[in-house]
Parts: sequence; C-alpha cells; structure tokens
Amino acid sequence: MTCAQMREQLSAWVDGELPHDLTAAVDSHLASCVSCRTHARSMRALKHVIAQLPSREAPPGAVRARVEGLRFRSGRTRVARAVAWLASAVAAAALVWAAVQMRDRVPPSSHELAEELVADHLRSVPEVMPAEVTSQNPDDVRRFFAERVPFRPVAPVLPGARLLGGRLCRINGTRSQLLFYETHGQTLSLFISPAPLDTEGCEAARGNHICGRMVGRLALMLVGNLPSETLQQLLADAAL
Ligand SMILES: [Zn+2]
Repeated sequence: MTCAQMREQLSAWVDGELPHDLTAAVDSHLASCVSCRTHARSMRALKHVIAQLPSREAPPGAVRARVEGLRFRSGRTRVARAVAWLASAVAAAALVWAAVQMRDRVPPSSHELAEELVADHLRSVPEVMPAEVTSQNPDDVRRFFAERVPFRPVAPVLPGARLLGGRLCRINGTRSQLLFYETHGQTLSLFISPAPLDTEGCEAARGNHICGRMVGRLALMLVGNLPSETLQQLLADAAL
C-alpha cells in the first residue's frame, strides 16, 4: 500500500469502517510510515474536535482561519475593502454562531478551544480539511450545494487545479459556498457568494494572496499560498 492509497483509506480507518483485510493493510503501513502515522493522529484529533461541535453547518473557525491573517498594510484598495467586508461578514457569522452556542447553554470556552484546534489543524494539515462534500466531480459538488445555498451553485473548473470538495459557509449571513482545490502542492479556498463585489484584483498578506472576481451575480474570492498572478490567472480562466 502506497502513502497515497493509505490516505484514501485513512478517514474510514479512523472511523473503524474498513473491511478486515484493508484494516490489516493500513495497520501494517502505519507501523512502518512515520508520515502517515502523523497524518492518522491529526485526522483522529480533528474528527474528535469536529464531533464536539454541535453543528457542522457553519463553524466559523474554518472560514475565519483563512480570512484572519489577511491584513493589509497599505491603503484600502477595492480588494482590501472586499476582504474587509469578507472579514466582517465572517466576524458577524462568528457572533451569531457564538450566540447560538450560548442559547444552547454550552460553555463557550470549550467551543472557543474547539475552534482554535480546528483552525490549527486547518493550518497545519491542509489535506485534512473538514469538507462536507468530497468529490472531484463538479456535478457532485453542485448537487451537494443545490438545496443548501440561496443561489444556483457552481463548481468552477480551474485549469490545472484539482477540485477536492467543499463545505457550506456563511458570508454576510448568506449561505455561501466554500470550495477546496489543490494545485502546485497547495490547497486553495474559493469562496462563492451572491454578494456584490466590484473588484478584480489581488492583495498579498502573510504569505497568502487573495484574488476577487465577479462572475455574473456571484463573487469569487480565491485564497492561497501562491503568487497572485497564478491565482488571478486561475480565476480568469475559471469555467463555470
Ligand atoms: Zn505512508
């Protein structure tokens, strides 16, 4: 069993859902592979944390982890304003989420901790993103979002990038799409929201770039640790 084959089975293995022979193959691979052992530990910890979250619908930590850290030193460009808008939307979503937690009389501190842990995992183990739909097939991804977002969902094909899946997020209180892609060994996040965004351009911050583009009524915001030209080109070539 190769590491790649191993990673495909890992989630089911952690959940104890693998048939006997595959379980044995995974066990024997783990016994001899430090990298996959680390991966398995991370995934187990992540699943544990996610299991503590009362709702999988909108844990803002996942979104916030990607938006925080995007702070702009220079003047407020259109993109900077767009990102500020996105950040405030995420902050608002976090407040709503926190309020729901308190209404449910769950101690906020444990959820803050859970959020931090999820965010940490997202930062350190990008392969283990808690996607709610995992598929390379745009049709599957669109179908997942079809009854979950108040607009016709899209799953853009980005040339040279592999669709990994996605999850629901809230931007400005509106259910929106968050899609994950992989390219050049990096995981990219694509936020898709029906909110207006009169910008086409990129900004850099802390090793990440964020690029925005309107496609019809939809705002596409691509975030990743790649040169802005690369992200912008991916957005420009995005085929809905
Ligand atoms: Zn391995």
